[in-house]
Amino acid sequence: MSELPYSYEAPASQALFDRAAAVTPGGVNSPVRAFRAVGGTPRFMVSGSGPYLTDSDGREYVDLVCSWGPMILGHAHPEVIAAVQEAVARGTSFGTPGEGEVALAEEMVARIEPLEQVRLVSSGTEATMSAIRLARGFTQRSKVIKFAGCYHGHVDALLASAGSGVATFALPDTPGVTGAQAGDTIVLPYNDLDAVRAAFAAHPGEIACVITEASPGNMGVVPPLPGFNQGLKDACAANGALYISDEVMTGFRTSRAGWYGVDGVRPDLMTFGKVMGGGFPAAAFGGRADVMAHLAPAGPVYQAGTLSGNPVATAAGLAQLRLLDDAAYEKVNAVSAQIQSLVTEALTKEGVAHTLQNASNMFSVFFTEKPVRDYDDAKQQESFRFTAFFHSLLANGVYLPPSSFESWFVSTAHDERAVQRIADALPAAARAAAEATA
Ligand code: PLP
Repeated sequence: MSELPYSYEAPASQALFDRAAAVTPGGVNSPVRAFRAVGGTPRFMVSGSGPYLTDSDGREYVDLVCSWGPMILGHAHPEVIAAVQEAVARGTSFGTPGEGEVALAEEMVARIEPLEQVRLVSSGTEATMSAIRLARGFTQRSKVIKFAGCYHGHVDALLASAGSGVATFALPDTPGVTGAQAGDTIVLPYNDLDAVRAAFAAHPGEIACVITEASPGNMGVVPPLPGFNQGLKDACAANGALYISDEVMTGFRTSRAGWYGVDGVRPDLMTFGKVMGGGFPAAAFGGRADVMAHLAPAGPVYQAGTLSGNPVATAAGLAQLRLLDDAAYEKVNAVSAQIQSLVTEALTKEGVAHTLQNASNMFSVFFTEKPVRDYDDAKQQESFRFTAFFHSLLANGVYLPPSSFESWFVSTAHDERAVQRIADALPAAARAAAEATA
């Protein structure tokens, strides 16, 4: 059991965590789930319904993680569940083409104008890995520019200075990634166009692509400064490189056309995951048809997947996307704005230095007064205050991401009752943050 003074017993979760630790490294299948940044017992969830999760001790939480983004309609949405049940009853995997994957690709292409062609894969990691390979194959160049604090999945070449779990665990370089794999990666500070121009000048004809989170959410929410994404696009165009916008987190969340629908900067390639899978493993990359034509079997760049375009995952994703009309985005944006104001109000009342940043309905709180523009700024925050804030909310039935380097997510299912639960829990959490010591 945790030794944190503000923790409380979660015996069933703890028993499962002990069992898990015997058979799984660290007891989890994705590092941030282990609660190492905040301490205490990770909650093992047994069910989700609308805005709520229920853990194995029978406690209910308002969920502000939403499976790290995908559950934009809330948990167990009846129409998504019905589509999944209908698909499952017809068989779970054929290893052949099927209509569901065509319909999902058509829905995506119809929503995002620069997405001329799309290839389905099973995870965001696979999407970014494949997009980079394609960019290298297309340009016949090897170097990749990425930004410190941006996370693009656990792709070897992209783990350098990544955010999310890598930030949480302060892993500077991951053992197991060779110098050769990381050597072609140029890591630059986020929101710094001069650094990008200088890198292009220092490596003429060598840079295949710039990959960036469309609007980063993996060092907390740090939106691009006005003109930054356009500047990236222009620098790529001027130097024969491809501009890859990673929309795994923002895609179909920040608007019906993702972050492209917000800033209108036209990428050469884009990557997707999370929302488009409706809670199942479905992801994608796509973009310019002339670039995608280089992908096997149309072209020479190899890429494949046994479960790519899986009929159950595509049914879930398609059902979810079809429900995401303008009214749904208005609802998510409104409830997000409401929760953001409640958080600011509670922290301000207790005199806690903080900056709340948002990108459409994604948002996060930094425990620092200074606006956060890059990863170095994000690391300046007083994360110990987040720990106290997190545990107080958890004890009062509100589930936040267990790290101060993550975005918070809401859904169309976050109704008045759920918001009231958050409002009721915030004053004590803000007091805990104010009283916390390093
Ligand atoms: N890209 C971004 C922007 C992400 O946020 C993530 C995951 O959080 C990924 C890529 C990797 O996706 P996955 O976890 O599905 O491999």
